[in-house]
Amino acid sequence: IRLRFQDKDNDNVKVVVRCRPFNSKETSAQYRQAVKVDEVRGQIAVEKSDSNEPPKTFTFDTVFGPESKQVDIYNLTARPIVNSVLEGYNGTIFAYGQTGTGKTFTMEGVRTVPELRGIIPNSFAHIFGHIAKAEGDTRFLGRVSYLEIYNEEVRDLLGKDQHQRLDVKERPDIGVYVKDLSMFVVNNADDMDRIMTLGNKNRSVGSTDMNEQSSRSHAIFTVTIECSEKGLDGQQHVRVGKLHLVDLAVSYCNLGSERQVKTGATGQRLKEATKINLSLSTLGNVISSLVDGRSTHIPYRNSKLTRMLQDSLGGNSKTLMCANIGPADYNYDETISTLRYANRAK
Ligand code: ADP
Ligand code: MG
Repeated sequence: IRLRFQDKDNDNVKVVVRCRPFNSKETSAQYRQAVKVDEVRGQIAVEKSDSNEPPKTFTFDTVFGPESKQVDIYNLTARPIVNSVLEGYNGTIFAYGQTGTGKTFTMEGVRTVPELRGIIPNSFAHIFGHIAKAEGDTRFLGRVSYLEIYNEEVRDLLGKDQHQRLDVKERPDIGVYVKDLSMFVVNNADDMDRIMTLGNKNRSVGSTDMNEQSSRSHAIFTVTIECSEKGLDGQQHVRVGKLHLVDLAVSYCNLGSERQVKTGATGQRLKEATKINLSLSTLGNVISSLVDGRSTHIPYRNSKLTRMLQDSLGGNSKTLMCANIGPADYNYDETISTLRYANRAK
């Protein structure tokens, strides 16, 4: 048995899994529990009902069961990343999983109830709490941008013209950037919150025949923190850290053609699904080659998402992938698919 706190070669990439509790609909329909979470061993076991198959088990850096608290998720997973962003490094936090499994709950949570706040509001409070404590000649500047990748096209969620498509470019001095992307200076957590809410209203949504509103695009909210400090040489030095908060799209077709028939995906939906699958599989490949540490070629260029995040994945950057799953057996296929994806990224 692998121990949960085993030392790994690369501690900069973490993959964790969170299983949400049964909801009232699932309880009243008396769905059976398929997922068992062993937080001590970092293991998840998934059992198929009415089958002789032994449960499938997966091991991760950390796993969170249905009773897990928002504050524990923040402290164990996101806090170290935000701390390193405040020191001038880059960090990326991804939420992945089927619709309804708790991605938004984990990332945003319930903003109006302090103990139910998710990673995003907690990180905003953490960042400005840190800035408020700055002393002497230390100055901070916080800026945010928010974009969406839909069908491999980049859109500025804070732009005046929502029809405009933006280009991803590269320059030797600043690296990869999105040309003409809006940036706003933020002075407190409320500013960030307001801007994020504004951008959320501009996101593309679509529905499938399964009668769910699901997100068909990847959304990247980026917080850039510039810190200017007086060094031992008496000069001001600037460090820049970037935090990317990524809500990944899900494809209902990630289980192959059978699934495409079941969800009735055709035409536009099928095209979307193909692009989503391309970027999710590229992201999986990039993360697994970073973890593996032996690969000489990291396939960043194979999708817009990984290309954009190139300087924030690998190297000194810290990455968190939070895979969300539901506990009930009617989601067996999707749960296994999510765990396989997360397992490969590990
Ligand atoms: P997603 O963003 O993945 O589609 P949501 O975050 O919207 O899923 O979650 C679906 C529902 O389940 C919401 O009503 C949410 O409040 C609830 N939920 C999700 N995770 C949890 C959790 N860990 N504890 C309590 N309720 C949760
Ligand atoms: Mg959501």
